[in-house]
Amino acid sequence: MTEKELRHAIVRWARSLFERGFTVGSSGNISVRLEDGGFLMTPTNSCMGFLDPDRLSRLDAGGAHVDGDPPTKERPLHFAFYEARPSARAVVHLHSTHATALSCLADVDPEDAVPPITPYVVMRVGRVPVLPYARPGSSALAPMIRERAARHPAVLLANHGPVVAGPSLEAAVFAIEELEETARLLIMTRNLEVRRLTPEEVADLDASFSLKG
Ligand code: ZN
Repeated sequence: MTEKELRHAIVRWARSLFERGFTVGSSGNISVRLEDGGFLMTPTNSCMGFLDPDRLSRLDAGGAHVDGDPPTKERPLHFAFYEARPSARAVVHLHSTHATALSCLADVDPEDAVPPITPYVVMRVGRVPVLPYARPGSSALAPMIRERAARHPAVLLANHGPVVAGPSLEAAVFAIEELEETARLLIMTRNLEVRRLTPEEVADLDASFSLKG
């Protein structure tokens, strides 16, 4: 895709996520890594429902802001994924309701917050760690993401929300939607007896659909 096509794709996906209630107000942000190593990002304090393709933040390969509106202050989350996952071409961060609810629960396993209840969450999202709470925009989160992102394309930030990387913008959006819907299923079934996929079933999916960076 050309840069122009990617600008329109960011606007289209952001609007779609906003219109379906995956993000509200000025929360959530999207970035894409370009062919020249630079980045497009959604601007700080922008609403995902009403982005202008010509005002998206353009950053160079070193992360310096070179054009458009100032980038999201959560950009360290995005750069940490790109550094740790050479295959990542897009990163999406949302405060989507159910994944954020899961990130607030005191009893989730911080190494594996999303048990394998459907094959699609295993195929698109993998095992999801929860990173300890840090103030949004704080420099504390980036090293924690870098440490885990090579093995995990998706993380939950405690009391904050999900961040997901993908090999394309579409793949990252599909993965974060899968994470949100699975979080919804987990909360719906929280006090019910649930059959999880067996370790053998998960291993079979892992062997067929690698998510390594
Ligand atoms: Zn956030």
